[in-house]
Amino acid sequence: MTAPVRSVVVVGGSLAGLSAARALREQGYDGQVVVVGEEERLPYDRPPLSKEFLAGTLDLEDLALTTADDADLDLDWRLGDPASGLDRGGRAVVLASGRQVPADGVVVATGARARALPGARLAGVHTLRTVEDAVALRAELGVGRRLVVIGGGFIGAEVASTARALGVEVTVVESDVVPLHRVLGEDLAQACAGLHADHGVRLLAGEVVTGLGGNGRVREVHLAGGRTEPADVVVVGIGAIPNVEWLAGSGVEHDHRGVRTDAAGATNVAQVVATGDCAFSYCAYAGATVRHEHWTHAVQQPATAVASLLGHTTTARRAAPYFWSDQYGARLQFAGHRTPDDAVEILEGDLVDRRFVAGYRRDGELVAVFAMNQPKLFGKWRRQLMPRHATTAA
Ligand code: FAD
Ligand code: NAP
Repeated sequence: MTAPVRSVVVVGGSLAGLSAARALREQGYDGQVVVVGEEERLPYDRPPLSKEFLAGTLDLEDLALTTADDADLDLDWRLGDPASGLDRGGRAVVLASGRQVPADGVVVATGARARALPGARLAGVHTLRTVEDAVALRAELGVGRRLVVIGGGFIGAEVASTARALGVEVTVVESDVVPLHRVLGEDLAQACAGLHADHGVRLLAGEVVTGLGGNGRVREVHLAGGRTEPADVVVVGIGAIPNVEWLAGSGVEHDHRGVRTDAAGATNVAQVVATGDCAFSYCAYAGATVRHEHWTHAVQQPATAVASLLGHTTTARRAAPYFWSDQYGARLQFAGHRTPDDAVEILEGDLVDRRFVAGYRRDGELVAVFAMNQPKLFGKWRRQLMPRHATTAA
């Protein structure tokens, strides 16, 4: 029998870490909770970093995730001193400063970082993950400047949209035939790509970036085939890498896809759970092991991981995963899990009007829904997605 947990270390002081700390108290745990964070700041919200904060319509204090009520959680924050190791068996978290924090239980919530373009060390080249990244990028987005965004995924599309509204000349370079192809399938991805053109953003799809040019500061983006695109500023939005290297030698199973967990967040090491963007977990709805990289997951999943850590009976979530994105004033929403062979149908509205709800069916069953500018109808169809796959196997 495992000993009762009396000290928990939450590693990662952001959305999933804070959600886990709150869940510990909500589930009646009254022992010590230490939150170890790499960033010096208390948790803040990342979605506005590519939207309202980048646009300048939200301030730093508007991003705070902690509220006055969180003072009652009695958390011991250790910020600005990242975890550099976890001893075998998870009995202590080792910090970069050399300090050790004893732990009966560990919640791994170290999220992800932006993937950089190899060799891109020129001034004017940005990635976007932190407040500091957003402040630095915002300072460069002047009217008439030429921004090239590499990657047409979520960061790419949202930054392009915000920059365009600030009067920036924007070009998006995407290696796939159309951005969001893998997420939405071709037809619906084309509808989203149309938003770029509607707002005067050039989209170069199916183009591969081979390098950047400039002397100290970026001046151009080189494309396969020998073409170059002039650039005053470049944003690299080519995906996120889970922050898991600090677990090397800990015995906790992990690789480039994240920390391997079952549907309840349990790792292969007793009393070590992982949650949020860093976790590569069995998803009961998808019937597959996946890494969810979205806000709602980082809010909801930690409660399940904490229940698992505390030895409470857990019912792994079988509800459909969800995310949203705001681009050019359009609200995009997706729920469920799509595979390439699913059949797509328009359930409400019209692609051309940029106001619709689309459904994905597998063997006739609705398995995912995607909406553009139809939040109410999206809610209606989302409720029709049935919980799937009873098994919680890893
Ligand atoms: P993170 O937010 O990445 O936090 C992890 C924390 O752990 C960080 O503070 C990090 O510094 C810290 N850390 C890392 N290593 C260590 C270590 N060794 N020791 C201690 N601490 C460590 N999702 C949506 O659904 N909709 C959106 O519109 C949306 N917009 C987004 C816009 C931007 C610009 C970004 C970057 C993300 C957006 N997301 C959106 C995704 C969403 O913000 C993430 O899913 C969410 O932040 C994940 O939370 P997390 O706590 O798991 O990870
Ligand atoms: P992403 O969503 O994975 O998109 C990366 C995009 O870049 C993909 O379209 C990818 O194409 C493309 N790409 C990859 N390498 C490329 C290259 N060398 N040249 C050109 N295009 C390339 O990642 P992201 O947009 O960078 O976002 C980073 C993280 O923030 C993710 O975790 C994301 O979920 C999160 N985020 C979420 C939201 C939201 O949910 N609204 C908003 C912002 C950020 P392929 O698909 O073909 O690889």
